[in-house]
Amino acid sequence: MSNNGTKIELPASIVIRDLAQIIEKSPIDLIKKLMTNGVMATINQTVDFDTAAIVVAEYGFEAVAEFVEEEAKEEVGEVPLWRQMIAGEDKSHLKARPPVVTILGHVDHGKTSLLDAIRSTDVAAGEAGGITQHIGAYQVEMKGRLITFLDTPGHAAFTQMRARGAQGADIVILVVAADDGVMPQTREAIAHAKAARVPIVVALNKVDKPNANPDRAKQQLAEMELVPDDWGGNTMVVSVSATKKQGIDDLLEGVLLVADSNDIKANPAGKVIGTIIEAELDKSKGVLATLLVQNGTLEAGDVVVAGTAYGKLRAINDFKGKPIKKAGPATPVAVMGLSDVPSAGDLFEVVKSEKEARVIVTERLDAIKVQAQSRKKLSLEDLFANVQAGEAKELNLIVKADVQGSLDPIVTELNKLGEGEIGLHILHAETGNIGNNDVMLASASKAIIIGFNVQADVDARRMAEKEGVDIRLYEIIYRMTEDIEKALNGMLEPKLVEKTLGKAQVLQVFSASKFGRVAGCKVTDGELKRGAKVRLYRSGDIVYEGDLSSLRHEKEDVKEIRQGFECGVGFKSFNDIQPGDTLVCYIVE
Ligand code: GDP
Repeated sequence: MSNNGTKIELPASIVIRDLAQIIEKSPIDLIKKLMTNGVMATINQTVDFDTAAIVVAEYGFEAVAEFVEEEAKEEVGEVPLWRQMIAGEDKSHLKARPPVVTILGHVDHGKTSLLDAIRSTDVAAGEAGGITQHIGAYQVEMKGRLITFLDTPGHAAFTQMRARGAQGADIVILVVAADDGVMPQTREAIAHAKAARVPIVVALNKVDKPNANPDRAKQQLAEMELVPDDWGGNTMVVSVSATKKQGIDDLLEGVLLVADSNDIKANPAGKVIGTIIEAELDKSKGVLATLLVQNGTLEAGDVVVAGTAYGKLRAINDFKGKPIKKAGPATPVAVMGLSDVPSAGDLFEVVKSEKEARVIVTERLDAIKVQAQSRKKLSLEDLFANVQAGEAKELNLIVKADVQGSLDPIVTELNKLGEGEIGLHILHAETGNIGNNDVMLASASKAIIIGFNVQADVDARRMAEKEGVDIRLYEIIYRMTEDIEKALNGMLEPKLVEKTLGKAQVLQVFSASKFGRVAGCKVTDGELKRGAKVRLYRSGDIVYEGDLSSLRHEKEDVKEIRQGFECGVGFKSFNDIQPGDTLVCYIVE
């Protein structure tokens, strides 16, 4: 090649089209080169620096990172609260501790089976007959070393903890069924783990099945920037069969290897802190809680404060239900003696006396009251203010779109916008409506949700309201990019004001071949206008938000209709109308 080692600067990620332009090659040629390297990508897709560096090398270029390496960024990135709390510990007192692992993955890919398989392969964990109680966590031994597993699988638990500033897990095992490959919740899990900056070990499960296709799954993982180690990437992918209990030791060894390359340490003699894994009220025993000790050594008789609950621990049991006197870092324990049921994800700490505990709890209760009054969501409008105040350096986004065909160009456009002073970080991009998990991820990562031609589920809206998450829905790409661009430049215009035009009650629903389902309504207030915006409420919840696309009065199309009259109303791409729904018509000024 004639470019013999010519240096080119490349960003952390780049769209294929742009990369082709930089090296002055045809994008098709580039895509072919990528394919021979095992990477499937379309012209609009983004590849990371490492991948880009490999292909440009094939043309004789040497890629140079024009960005600050990830590690440097991690310093300013999200630091889990408990890590901040042990930041004051003398480094020389820090000792290696067992890694804490959680299992994520798509439904039915084998999370529960894998947790059971891991638990039963280890004699230290499984009591004969498997009568061990489940306390939400357990430990296994591998090569004389312990590994702690959080055994409530699922993204909700993981994100809920993170939303509270806790970070239970040091490592995520991502279960991917080899017969099914990467599925929506797999992608979601990857987004959660990446947002939390927790390393991923992939358990490629169900390899025993005749229709297992490990290579296809690996290809899909590679497309998600999890390039398998045997393909020269950095992600450990271990083939397992949870039901046949195959590959479990390899998986655990993999976990230990990843643990070794991450600084998993604590001071057993330091300040005692940790995270509440689960807690419940037992009628006869009072509050039962599972605690994960993260620093220091917890002892029976210690006074603990967790969130707004406190108490002197009467007894400490290990995960097998055996009473123990002490529990060091990364040990899960079941305790009794708290005054109240703390929330999963609350941090706990040991204090000197119950009196001190009471003072702390009273302060916290007061703070909660104040917070509730001033709770404000991070909206696009607030972003620039935060940037100026030096509080935000990047805008986190979660992008949902109706079809892949619109998602790809949106991501491309957004990535372009993120090349300026304020970075733009897309945590998760996926097709489908906005659901609870998106809101949870947004809340935990202080992200804004962008929806393109999609709706937010009723539950998700309610949660967004509670968690203070900004959801912005768009139908036109440039409107969206315009908004984001303005926010990034601090030029977002004053918030638009909504003006209610009128209200109507849905009396009956009928089908019209031309419009789909039509709501037969009576206008109870003001007027309805064709082309205006509408919101449909059912028992107080918003079930639809969009355009009032058709308006008829006695078979005639009308532009508007006033209070007291009956009319037929059709909504753009929405059919789930029910008698009793209320309709509010408004315009945005
Ligand atoms: P979860 O929803 O991710 O917790 O998945 P489960 O552990 O409940 O597993 C879902 C189904 O897949 C169950 O019927 C399991 O028996 C089956 N399964 C799990 N692991 C394996 C495996 O390694 N091989 C086979 N053949 N089936 C498995």
